[in-house]
Formats: sequence, C-alpha cells, structure tokens
Amino acid sequence: MNFKKILEYQRIDQEILALENEVYKSKERTNLATAKTNIAKSTEIINKLKDEATTLLASYNSVQEKIDELKAELDEYEGVLDGVQDIAETDYHIKKVSAIVDRISALEKEVALGSKRIDEINDKYKKTWDQGVKDTVFFKTAKADYDKLVEDYRPQVVEKVNARDALKGDIPEKILELYASLRAAKKMPAFVPYDQKSSGCCPRCGMEVANDTLAKLKNPGDYAECPNCRRILFIPEN
Ligand SMILES: [Zn+2]
Repeated sequence: MNFKKILEYQRIDQEILALENEVYKSKERTNLATAKTNIAKSTEIINKLKDEATTLLASYNSVQEKIDELKAELDEYEGVLDGVQDIAETDYHIKKVSAIVDRISALEKEVALGSKRIDEINDKYKKTWDQGVKDTVFFKTAKADYDKLVEDYRPQVVEKVNARDALKGDIPEKILELYASLRAAKKMPAFVPYDQKSSGCCPRCGMEVANDTLAKLKNPGDYAECPNCRRILFIPEN
C-alpha cells in the first residue's frame, strides 16, 4: 500500500494539532482559566456564607423563643415569696428562680456570639462580593482576549482542515480509522516509517519488535502494528 497520502494527511493534521496546542498554551487561555477558577471560588464562598447565615438565623430564632419562654416562667414567680413562711420553701423558690436566670443569661451569651458571627459573615460577604465584581470584570476581559486569539487563528486552522479533509477520498477508510483511533489515544505521529535504520525496534517507542511483526515488514508498502505502542509501522516506497 502507498502511504504518501496518509503521511500528507498526518503532516497537515499535526500542524493543526500544533496550532491548537499554541492556543491551549497561550496566556489568553491561561488567563481565562484563572478567571473562571476565581469566579468559582467566590461563588463557593458566597454560597457557604449564605448557608451558615441561614442556619444561624434559624438557631437565633429558636434561642430567642426559649428565652421568651423562660422569661414568662420567671414572671410566674413574681410575688410568690410574699406568702411563704417556711425557710426551706423560700430556699426552694430562690434556687428555682436563680436556675432560670442562669439559663437565660447562658442563652443570651449564645445570642451575642451568634450575632457577632452574623456581623463577621456580613463583612466577609461584602468583601467576597466586591472581589466577585472584580473577578467578573477580569473574566470579561480575559474572555474577549481569548475569543480574539481564537478568531486570529481561525483562518489558518480552517485552511489546514480543508486541505487535510480534501485528502480523505484518496485514503482507504480502514487506514483513516486506524489513524483516528491512534490520534484519539494521543499516539502521534500514528504512522511511522520503518526502515533498515530501525534495526528491529519501533522508531517511536523504541521497543524491540517481535519476529512475527517483523515478518510482515519486508517490502515497500508493507505495514504492521507495533505490538507495544500500537502505532502503524510501514516500509516507505521510494
Ligand atoms: Zn512502538
């Protein structure tokens, strides 16, 4: 089989990959990726703060309810000592009242802590929000720069894609399929000339090629799969 067309196809395709790689490694794409990460981070912080604030407010309300209940209980003790003669009974009531007072003051401490935390959350929320606004501005610029880069590359990519695809009709389908699967597996170049200099080893992966494979590589136009890297080795026609 003649490999000239598939080699031409492969050459143009590798040029396309090189262009794609240039775009991938560009500072424009890196900036865009950073901008996306920054926005994702701010969004995550904002969501966590919202969740925490919701939980805190719910517990604030329930603590406040408990305090109200205890205060109502306290009101019931008003005047209770007036009619009491017995010292033991007085003692009993005083202990009851002071237990309620202690409980109220503990809950009020809890409320104070919660409200301090709410203030902190508010503060952090504001800062994160401001950062998010800056992140969005950065993202818009990065996106515009990246889009422009892609646009700049487009004509040469389109030209090469057209030139590459125009060769498809001259290449057997089976060979194109082999090429596509090796390309997808990032085994490029996929088709590798095997000649005298290769001396029993795959010129790409360097592994020794077994005899049954070598037996298929005798004459120009012969081809076989490297048992190790799966690339297609072939004997070039001159
Ligand atoms: Zn190999």
